[in-house]
Amino acid sequence: MPLSIETSLNREQLIGWLREENPARLAQLWQWADHLRQIHVGGEVHLRGLIEISNYCVRLCAYCGLRAPNTELVRYRMSFDEILACARKAAALGYGTVVLQSGEDPGLTTQFITEVIQAIKQELGLAITLSLGEREEDELWTWRQAGADRYLLRFETSQPELYARYHPPRPGKTSDRIALLRRLREMGYEVGSGVMIGLPGQTYGDLADDLLLFRELDLDMIGVGPYIAHPRTPLADPAFCRVVPAEEQVPASELMTYKVIALSRILCPRANIPSTTALATLNRKNGRELGLVRGANVVMPNLTPPHYRIHYEIYPNKACIQETAEACHTCLRARIESIGRHVGQGPGASPNYRWRT
Ligand code: SAM
Ligand code: SF4
Repeated sequence: MPLSIETSLNREQLIGWLREENPARLAQLWQWADHLRQIHVGGEVHLRGLIEISNYCVRLCAYCGLRAPNTELVRYRMSFDEILACARKAAALGYGTVVLQSGEDPGLTTQFITEVIQAIKQELGLAITLSLGEREEDELWTWRQAGADRYLLRFETSQPELYARYHPPRPGKTSDRIALLRRLREMGYEVGSGVMIGLPGQTYGDLADDLLLFRELDLDMIGVGPYIAHPRTPLADPAFCRVVPAEEQVPASELMTYKVIALSRILCPRANIPSTTALATLNRKNGRELGLVRGANVVMPNLTPPHYRIHYEIYPNKACIQETAEACHTCLRARIESIGRHVGQGPGASPNYRWRT
């Protein structure tokens, strides 16, 4: 049977695939996604150097270990020189992009981030992805003008009740990540978003709606990963969680993550899709590789100095928490080559972004 190049699926079909357990049918799904990946984004795997620049956060997200009330977390904020040193390492290792990620930290001022962007651009010429949470529109615009190329902001779930309960706004503010994603696109950013898979109270229908929203937003980058419980968060308490019938609850499993990666590739064939650390955390042996042969085409090696990285504890037992940047790089390159793919060169912009701009 020829491999399908069809890229549309309706809600019922998506739910059908999310519930699929038959190995032969799933093998067809993986092949379909991998085929589309090859056609639309090719055999390259792009490496993005991830720098976790601060774990301070003012938010109360009910799922995340960086949330402000977690007083047991040792907080850090990297200096300008420390960030630049990591970016130089990215360039030396041949990465075309750095991702600057943090909690929602007002201590990372507009001016500070602007100077970091300008320095990385002037000295190293790398593409810059920001993932700093919900910042003010004028800051996002300032950083875009300073040279930032991309912005990652997961909408986490499109289910309004779940979003409101698990992602409360800052006092006196609203929190509309979907609207902000649209604004980022208007500002000319390459735009990435995504969700957690298996949040307590997330149904198959909710997850199908998330997938349809990826397509509606015409995302350039899609990052999805399993929800991993953190004991010092409200979601660790079942009484806090939205309850749905057991047969409706999406499992936060490795298999479900592969299904969502594959379906994201089918719905948004030109997007860049990472095989995430959360997936590698569930399957340290070959979770990343399996993500890459089921639709993904990006990996984000961690460049954060290990003495800070241990404190970027979104969830416990994160994969690759101890490795140096060099060890991480060697390991990932070997894993990519073991599946017959090769490391991409240059900034590796999303084909979707190049196509739409
Ligand atoms: N603060 C920024 C933000 O919220 O967009 C960026 C950093 S935040 C730690 C990055 C992502 O981590 C979030 O978008 C969320 O999807 C994910 N995350 C948070 N807690 C998680 C958990 N317990 N399990 C899996 N992923 C989690
Ligand atoms: Fe802060 Fe982001 Fe974690 Fe929410 S998900 S608590 S904004 S770091």
